[in-house]
Amino acid sequence: MAAVNTALVVGGGFSGMAAAIRMRRAGIAVDLVEIDSEWCPLGAGITINGATLRALETLGVYERFKEYGVTSDGVDVYTAEGASIGRLPTPPVVGSDVPGGGGIMRPDLARILADATRQAGVSVRLGTTFKEVVQDAEGVDVDFTDGTRGRYDLLVGADGVHSRLRELFFPEVAPPEYIGQGVWRAVLPRLPDLARPRMWLGRKVKIGVNPVSPTRMYMFLTEERPVKTHIDEATWADVVAGLMRPFTAPDVQSLIQYVHAPEAAIDYRPLGNLLVPLPWNRGRVVMIGDTVAATTPHLASGAGIGIESGIVLGEELGRHADLQAALDAFHARRWERCRMVIHNSERLCRIEMEGGDKEEHGRILRESMQALTASI
Ligand SMILES: Cc1cc2nc3c(=O)[nH]c(=O)nc-3n(C[C@H](O)[C@H](O)[C@H](O)COP(=O)(O)OP(=O)(O)OC[C@H]3O[C@@H](n4cnc5c(N)ncnc54)[C@H](O)[C@@H]3O)c2cc1C
Repeated sequence: MAAVNTALVVGGGFSGMAAAIRMRRAGIAVDLVEIDSEWCPLGAGITINGATLRALETLGVYERFKEYGVTSDGVDVYTAEGASIGRLPTPPVVGSDVPGGGGIMRPDLARILADATRQAGVSVRLGTTFKEVVQDAEGVDVDFTDGTRGRYDLLVGADGVHSRLRELFFPEVAPPEYIGQGVWRAVLPRLPDLARPRMWLGRKVKIGVNPVSPTRMYMFLTEERPVKTHIDEATWADVVAGLMRPFTAPDVQSLIQYVHAPEAAIDYRPLGNLLVPLPWNRGRVVMIGDTVAATTPHLASGAGIGIESGIVLGEELGRHADLQAALDAFHARRWERCRMVIHNSERLCRIEMEGGDKEEHGRILRESMQALTASI
């Protein structure tokens, strides 16, 4: 018998969908409310590491991932001038034969998981959220914005880094602060010989590309910006082109011509992170994903740890008859892995901002990628 019979997931991002799918497998009746009536994230690409591919395999969507995305092994690293530094290996993960990594457009991954969520029998309501949440010892009462009410054994908060639920249940937790670095992303034509991700390391700027389909790749570019200022969207393509120009590597130079095209869909995100101390529950309300553990993207693992947390929560709810025992086991399995990703990603970020030791940067990257291969 599972620890709960009914659950509500608030937030249909990658973490919320993973939790919903895995909880259904444990026999739990699951409702999911998603505030966005389109249920579609920004059209940027996303890098998926081997551990995340393993998690997608656990959710039964790895084959569909391969239909839309790209998988590969290793990352080729170059200087800004295009001299090869070497190939960073992506070590095999424990318990699966999936490759070391991959790339996909976010809307494609979201659609794959959304289809799996509905197929799992989750009752999904879009354009809907909670108005009020009140819990007692036996359950959680929720008033929804569509005028309906529900009572659940468990509420799973997966409404992201700007979570309203976190504000409500963890009022002492401050929202993430700007870290001093931002990420530019663009969707570009795939370099003809691009078989795996490629990175060029400048002194303080890093550029990477990752294939997301047979014809497209996405580019990410990290830039130190000590102060968080508004950057006029009309200038974004010029800013990106300006940051690329000093990279004399022929590949980077060949891409500058594409950044002004509307298909490039340039996006800028100032970065921050957040790690809420345990426990991640208040009674029958538990939080997962970016809501409590949001990382900067330096290990391309934010979505991965959120999806894993959704899976582990579902597994532990199915394994224990007692809710607190299930949540304790969930916390024990998730804390160190999430802490490691957030801490090491921040360390990489700071080395990049300081124009620091590239050897140390490479070592942290390798050690973190190795640690992520462990079973969850
Ligand atoms: C620039 C950048 C690059 C990144 N690159 C990578 C990468 O390459 N690889 C990787 O693994 N990770 C990456 N990440 C991290 C990754 O995007 C996040 O960790 C991941 O999206 C978190 O998923 P989530 O479901 O926890 O939260 P979210 O994706 O934020 O999902 C929250 C969901 O809840 C919904 N919602 C919000 N409020 C409410 C409400 N009140 N009621 C109902 N629904 C609500 C939202 O609409 C959304 O659908 C990157 C992050 C950034 C900022």
